[in-house]
Amino acid sequence: SPIIREETTDGAILVVHDITELKKLEKIRQDFVANVSHELRTPVTTIKGYAETLLEGALNDKENAKDFLKIISSDANRLAQLVDDLLDLSRIESGQLKAEFKECELPAIIDRVLAGFRKQIKAKSIVTHKDIPRDVSKIKADEHSMAQVIANLIDNAIKYNNEGGTITISVKETPEHVEMLIQDTGIGIPQDHLPRIFERFYRVDKARSRELGGTGLGLSIVKHIIQSHHGTVSVESRLSEGSTFKMTIPKASAA
Ligand code: ADP
Repeated sequence: SPIIREETTDGAILVVHDITELKKLEKIRQDFVANVSHELRTPVTTIKGYAETLLEGALNDKENAKDFLKIISSDANRLAQLVDDLLDLSRIESGQLKAEFKECELPAIIDRVLAGFRKQIKAKSIVTHKDIPRDVSKIKADEHSMAQVIANLIDNAIKYNNEGGTITISVKETPEHVEMLIQDTGIGIPQDHLPRIFERFYRVDKARSRELGGTGLGLSIVKHIIQSHHGTVSVESRLSEGSTFKMTIPKASAA
């Protein structure tokens, strides 16, 4: 907390604001606003440019017009995704997200999410493996949030995988937690970037992430959700070999 309370020798309470701490928080806020503006500006500039070009006559050039509209559509989608992610983040951070913690079955959530990615998995000829024991203990979680965590991790495991690569999802139990590992055989993450990838907007390769439709917010959403579940999330990776994301969530019985 930026406020320090001290008791003076005569018993009075002295309230001191730690200025460096306040300045640090202000800097984080400013950086965030700057980042958001920058991320919004790029697609907005593109949409504006191509729309103007179309209005100035390119509309009559059927072939080009269609290409321009495709770019406009794709950047509009990116904007929509960005706004969705930002809203999610702010709802989670402000505790506004009405998380409903219930007993749920992690393997069922994994299956449901995985089914939704069938198209993308097939398009990249990715092979998926599941190593999930029967009768895994239930976890105490908000099902919708948990599905979002798994979706973000699987989405990355596809995006940053190679054509024909593999994704392995395993579930294990410890006395108090259920663990999930999502392992891919993709491009991997350089060691010096590993500590930062859960930060908002942090991306190893900005251009590549954008090209793949990334916003740089997925893993920060994952981290926030898992923290609200009193769980943990971590990553291990080797460049050009692949990455493994591990999350742990308390068992329903442990609460
Ligand atoms: P993005 O929308 O860019 O994917 P994320 O927050 O989900 O944002 O991830 C942040 C960055 O971490 C990515 O841009 C990428 O550089 C790296 N990353 C995340 N998951 C993986 C993965 N499975 N393999 C390789 N790199 C990854």
